[in-house]
Amino acid sequence: MVSSTAQANRKYPDMLDLKPVLGAIDAVLGSAARPVELHEPRFGQRERELVLDCIDSNWVSSAGKYVTRFEEMVAAATGARHAVAIVNGTAALHAALVLEGVEQGDEVLLPAITFVATANAVSHAGAIPHFVDSTWDTLGLDPQALEAHLDAVAERRNGAWVNKQTGRRLRAVVPVHIFGHPVDMAALGAVAAKYELVIVEDATESLGSTLGGKGCGTFGHSAVLSFNGNKIVTTGGGGMIVTDDEAHARHARHFTSTAKRAHAWAFDHDEVAYNYRLPNINAALGCGQMERLPAMVDAKRRLAERYLLAFSDFPWARIYREPEGSQSNYWLNTLVLEREYAAERDRLLAALHGHGIRARPLWTPMHLLPMYRDCPRSQLPVAEDMHTRCINLPSSPFLAESANKV
Ligand SMILES: *Cc1c(COP(=O)(O)O)cnc(C)c1O
Repeated sequence: MVSSTAQANRKYPDMLDLKPVLGAIDAVLGSAARPVELHEPRFGQRERELVLDCIDSNWVSSAGKYVTRFEEMVAAATGARHAVAIVNGTAALHAALVLEGVEQGDEVLLPAITFVATANAVSHAGAIPHFVDSTWDTLGLDPQALEAHLDAVAERRNGAWVNKQTGRRLRAVVPVHIFGHPVDMAALGAVAAKYELVIVEDATESLGSTLGGKGCGTFGHSAVLSFNGNKIVTTGGGGMIVTDDEAHARHARHFTSTAKRAHAWAFDHDEVAYNYRLPNINAALGCGQMERLPAMVDAKRRLAERYLLAFSDFPWARIYREPEGSQSNYWLNTLVLEREYAAERDRLLAALHGHGIRARPLWTPMHLLPMYRDCPRSQLPVAEDMHTRCINLPSSPFLAESANKV
């Protein structure tokens, strides 16, 4: 801890004493084996049984009972009516954007602070990512900043909203529930309605999170989940499109499975489509994992409580707390340094790695990556600030059990 005399003399010491930070994190991680990764999967006997059943029955590929069962379990967990299993989250985002009518040359709004897959999926759809700022209220897209930006750059031409600087149609907005913390969807919904933008939620990090009691993934017309190895539930690689719209779900299933018309033997396909279906063997793993989702959310929330408590006395750093009115799955816990210490971030990361704690900085904002440098964007002061002083800490659910009791 910073001594009270140092605090009395000036608000902050010049250089951070890193020992108390390491000490606080060590106390939270307790007896967990070092090095401690950011997020690791864990499988039990149940996953083993279900995967073995696929092998023994020869049903390993893109048909089989586990795909349907996994879809039903994920739909139930989010509260969405329909779910369509996809080979990974990026492919699911790509397909979801195309299915929502995003076309070549459209612009899609998304936060500059996200994993690169969100922007890549927009590019895969032939559209141009248009980056907007984030808010410290949720770590996600800032609806107010979005509205102010659109008020300045959007114009109605021939019955569509276009970016008057580029002449391109503004088609969709992709909010990302960063680290499991829900975006303010009521505020975003109002802005999307004003500018007639379709909402496709990137809920890849927020399975099990709720906002006002409603599951992430049920606010947009459709939403996307991921079951990559580092997510709260994993199928090795996997994704899902969820929606309440039955016709949309039916088309999503068709469009991601080569648009093959059902028939006992004929190969009839009726549109250019994708082979994006999740194999049964991955879905089997997912079924086993989904049985444990409530327990994993509970463990992650307990781990977050430990981190919050461990850092509650730090004057120059805090653990990010879930937004008001939400229940976050706390996919990744985030340490936020005070602005004065942004320059210390990498020294802290190096010390953590040297100590067997595989912490990571926030993703490089999309507009700073070479391939997205020239994309349209709003002012991004919060995104750039966030990037300089957030650090993700190990957050695997099983760490809640190794933590020292406080
Ligand atoms: C994980 C993730 C995705 C999708 O990732 P896949 O590895 O393709 O499943 C998309 N967006 C965000 C924000 C993510 O964290």
